[in-house]
Amino acid sequence: MNIANWLLDAGRRWPERPALFSGARAVADYRTFAAHAAQRAAELVQQHGIAPGERVALFMKNSCHYLELLYAIWWAGAVAVPINSRLHPAEAAWIADNAQARLIFTDDGQVFEPQALTPPCRELALSACGPLAEPLNSPCARQSEDLAWLFYTSGTTGRSKGVMLSHGNLSAMSLCYPIDVDPVAAGDAVVYAAPMSHGAGLYNFIHVRCGARHVVPESRGFKAEELFALASELGQVSLFAAPTMVKRMVEQARAQGYSGAGIKTIVYGGAPMYLADLREALATFGPRLVQIYGQGESPMTISALPRELIADCDRADWAALASSVGRAHSCVEISIRDPQGAPLPAGQPGEIAVRGATVMLGYWRNARATREALVQGWLLTGDIGYLDCAGYLTLTDRSKDVIISGGSNIYPREVEEVLAQHPAVFEVCVVGEPHPQWGESVVAFVVARDGAVLDQQQLNAWFVQRMASFKKPTKYVFRKELPRNSYGKILKTELRLSLMEAVSVSVTP
Ligand code: AMP
Repeated sequence: MNIANWLLDAGRRWPERPALFSGARAVADYRTFAAHAAQRAAELVQQHGIAPGERVALFMKNSCHYLELLYAIWWAGAVAVPINSRLHPAEAAWIADNAQARLIFTDDGQVFEPQALTPPCRELALSACGPLAEPLNSPCARQSEDLAWLFYTSGTTGRSKGVMLSHGNLSAMSLCYPIDVDPVAAGDAVVYAAPMSHGAGLYNFIHVRCGARHVVPESRGFKAEELFALASELGQVSLFAAPTMVKRMVEQARAQGYSGAGIKTIVYGGAPMYLADLREALATFGPRLVQIYGQGESPMTISALPRELIADCDRADWAALASSVGRAHSCVEISIRDPQGAPLPAGQPGEIAVRGATVMLGYWRNARATREALVQGWLLTGDIGYLDCAGYLTLTDRSKDVIISGGSNIYPREVEEVLAQHPAVFEVCVVGEPHPQWGESVVAFVVARDGAVLDQQQLNAWFVQRMASFKKPTKYVFRKELPRNSYGKILKTELRLSLMEAVSVSVTP
């Protein structure tokens, strides 16, 4: 099934329901949304000769047109290649080339130098498109296993790869959402505060399926203040927010005395949420938080931790459950593997493997990476974690980030959790540094809270009162901020490289 059928259906069932909003202003109902997608699909086919299966890239900021264009691409039977608009044009050109895209849409054109794109790929300015063509009556027939979305990974660990997601992957992912993450109703409004090219864009499907509202903030990005104003005006707002965004929302909410009016759900995920930050978010917004764990290769759908559980701080096992990423989504199985691929029992950490309807078809034109990631029907996630007897999954770290010091495995996440609770710490990130005697030693990059004075002796004293001293950082590097990729994920690779040059304070172990 072509996922664009969901929009066709929504346009017929609820023609007058408001669908697309620019800020708090409704700009299209479902009839118009579907008609625009059908017209743009005709344009892609008739004016640009796009055939089913061909790739069309989008290198644009979030907008209502972005959603129309995504659906137009699927309507025409083509494959969407959304590229984060915060990337450098040279990186975007690399992705378009790797995807063998025929067209790359930009907001206003002239983003690429004439030689930057590999022919036949060419740039098309969205603002220069139209007049709109006669619509294609219905979406091009597609099978569930046909490619729909080439999802370029965020590349925190190297060159980005094109994850092949099929129409079937996207519909399975979306149908799990109301069961495992959060029910969706017609009156809901999903706000795209993070790039649509990544996780946030995936929320569109279930909201189209349920005839809900889609809201693009006027800033076309993330501004906590704007978000709160939108939520207060529109009501029933849901959004996906990476933990750093939640942290900024908490700060802003406290500054203006806002406590979540109009927000239905904040879905967080994509990076670890430390308990100290989760407590603050709960104290600020109340029971509005839900967690998901996923990756491009099984998009947003590996496990979920429901709001009732996150909000139930009085449970004796709250800290353990709230620092987990919840239980498997309905359409996947999770298994923990040892390095030889044998399943491990509850409680033992190993690589997280996933099998089910949301798992990608493979990596685009990268058979080797596909062979390494998909083994006997299981996706090897590269994340390390363990399951408890009730099926709750706790992530310890990315396998590449585990620090092996003196033969012991140290998970940066647990060191970070302890340091993040220190009242003077705003942010922390822990990496391993090669060490002649121990193999690796623990280094903590720390950002102090505004106005706070950080002292490494205090941090050490704090640490040894809470955790085994062999896990204690041997070095602290104090920073004003931490390097992040364009999706807001901390770049550990860059921190490791910077260690050679960083002005650091060594502490004797
Ligand atoms: P991406 O494919 O760019 O979305 O990155 C996926 C990776 O982000 C996963 O493999 C995890 O390492 C991390 N991640 C995703 N969700 C969570 C979560 N809820 N908690 C901790 N890490 C997460």
